[in-house]
Amino acid sequence: MSTPWGRRLPGVRLGWLLAGWLAGAQGLAGAAPVFQVGEGGIGRALSDVSDEWVHRGEDDPAAVLAELEQAPPPTSGVPVLAWQRMRARTRGLVAARSDMEEDVRRALDTLASLAADGQVDARFRAELQGDQALIQAVLQDLLGHPAEAFLQGRLADQAYDQACGSRQPAPDCDYRAWWRALHLQAQRAETRGDLVEAQGLAERAHAVAERGMVPGLEAWSLAMQAVYQQALNHPDQARALIAQADRVVRQHGDVHSLVWVRFAEARLALESGDSKTALRLMHQSLRLAEPLNSPRMQARILPSLSDLLRRAGQPREALQAVEQAYPVLRRHHELRGQPTLLHNGGLARMQLGQVAQGRADMEAALKLWDATGARAAMRVALQEGSEALAALGDVRGALELLHREQALREEINADNQAAILAQMRATYRAESERRELDLLERENALRSSHLQTQTLIERIWVAAIVLLGLAAGVVGMLALRARDATRRLRHSEALLRVQSERDPLTGLANRRHFREVLATRGGAAFRGALLLVDVDHFKRINDEFGHPAGDAVLIEVARRLDGSVRAGDIVCRWGGEEFLIFAPDLQGEALDALALRVLRALGDEAIALDSGRLLPISASLGYAAFPLPAHQVALGWERAVNLVDMALYTAKSMGRDRAVGIQSVSAADAPALQSLEADFEAARLAGEVDLQVSPRRAY
Ligand code: GH3
Ligand code: MG
Ligand code: MG
Repeated sequence: MSTPWGRRLPGVRLGWLLAGWLAGAQGLAGAAPVFQVGEGGIGRALSDVSDEWVHRGEDDPAAVLAELEQAPPPTSGVPVLAWQRMRARTRGLVAARSDMEEDVRRALDTLASLAADGQVDARFRAELQGDQALIQAVLQDLLGHPAEAFLQGRLADQAYDQACGSRQPAPDCDYRAWWRALHLQAQRAETRGDLVEAQGLAERAHAVAERGMVPGLEAWSLAMQAVYQQALNHPDQARALIAQADRVVRQHGDVHSLVWVRFAEARLALESGDSKTALRLMHQSLRLAEPLNSPRMQARILPSLSDLLRRAGQPREALQAVEQAYPVLRRHHELRGQPTLLHNGGLARMQLGQVAQGRADMEAALKLWDATGARAAMRVALQEGSEALAALGDVRGALELLHREQALREEINADNQAAILAQMRATYRAESERRELDLLERENALRSSHLQTQTLIERIWVAAIVLLGLAAGVVGMLALRARDATRRLRHSEALLRVQSERDPLTGLANRRHFREVLATRGGAAFRGALLLVDVDHFKRINDEFGHPAGDAVLIEVARRLDGSVRAGDIVCRWGGEEFLIFAPDLQGEALDALALRVLRALGDEAIALDSGRLLPISASLGYAAFPLPAHQVALGWERAVNLVDMALYTAKSMGRDRAVGIQSVSAADAPALQSLEADFEAARLAGEVDLQVSPRRAY
């Protein structure tokens, strides 16, 4: 097999890479319309090379890591830092995919030290952070920690978005890395059973591949979207998407993507109940992968194939597939896929009469799934196991598995809600930390301007006093000037103060100002009603229509909010697409009515964008009047905001487009209230919180 850099690169690859780089540089200079050829530029070229290393590293990581160690930087044109980044990132990904801890650590160290270099700009630093999170995500994924993998994937996505999100396709952005982060998140969201989220992520992955002009990845993400849409019961959309994926991959794709598109087609067929076609397509996918000569890649297809074969009544072939793939995955410590193989192998063995060994394999699979928290898979496995035992006449065994399945189902139902909330909280926390920083910067600007004003005034007076003895006339003039300067500076200071109290985009009070107002309301015993509003799926608006459209929506949302409260209430932009309303003396039904009014004001009429397009939106809302009934335990405003925030999470978790109000809590003293806040969800489930939940907006 050819090497991407070592053997092949000095010839074809390097030539191509430099051609791409030069073309990219021309494009940057804005020179000529000739700039078509290497539109992807340096980022794309490095990204391509990196990708080839990663693919090769799948089967022989040690060799590829050694080659990477020795690969000399390309002779000219490629910036050293970009090269170093690519090399460290690639090393990290290769090592992470085979659980080579020491090499992962070294790669992460290199990326961190590149980022610590004072010379690099913020964008490049963000990309380096993205790389680090991506490597962690891949490692966690391999080790079977889906939640951590998802979280790291999300961090990587955010960093890449910060670096390359708001710009035109940039010649130095690595869209493949970004795609990887999104693709991984989509897969984990799917494992979790959150198909809507998986679909949204695959859609974004597709958009990123499109911007990076990587048709193979475009096709792959289209195919995944098709699978999710089918599972979400949208067969028409699924058909259209898979057809599009097929077109793209046929025209521009590479073998890898072709394999995975075929694989997705097989899943799609299975999803729509056509297991015969599914089996045929899965065989095709495997055959297409053969020339790539990558046992590892085949081992990723074989678990699904073994499943289909077993279902098709071919246990011998299923077992063969299992035995081919299992040692490969074990060798690379790739946990994902292993339980599926063990399970299918176990069932196949049972069908072949090797009952004891089959049951042992099945139990081993359950144990692996249990360790990774893959309970949805466990349920299916328990059901299938139970059926298999029943078919063998082992009624007791079958019943036992069925009981385990039922217990698991109850456990999942109880935990589901809590898990969703926990994940949401993590996201929101990251957002609000960023906002705090922003505010701090503004406050600093205000302080330093104030200081400047003082210093200037003092200087002018000192000069005036020194000159006093010299000429009274001059003094008079200076005094006038000093007054003038004072006025001007005071004016600009006042302007700055207003600016620091207002949100520049919407003109609403900003968080800083709002905090000052709230802080004057009763200190440790805050009084008044708070309503926290968060626009639903706002990110999609940005993603689909662009940031300026998102801004226009925020301005309109602010206007509608302002129009739906009474004089004396304050509306503030709490952050991003979150707004906080303070109504000093509202409670009970009047407060519930305001909450509904706000939802309607935001959601009833679509927002007209500049393009003329009408955009329907909705929002979720959490609210309460303080001090909280029934016991009126005193609490400060920060904790009050925190409580309505929790009500807001609850509204989100109940499907959004709702208002959730805290009517009363059972906490009768400060410690009881604190423990309720510490685990709001548990308190809610225990009936310690009485919520007013509005129906979705058809009131
Ligand atoms: P959810 O329904 O869970 O609230 O989903 P969401 O997409 O609304 O929430 P998320 O917090 O994931 O996304 C909020 C987005 O708002 C992310 C950020 O890029 C965007 N945003 C924040 N401030 C601004 C802004 O000033 N202008 C624009 N256009 N977008 C912003
Ligand atoms: Mg939102
Ligand atoms: Mg938000």
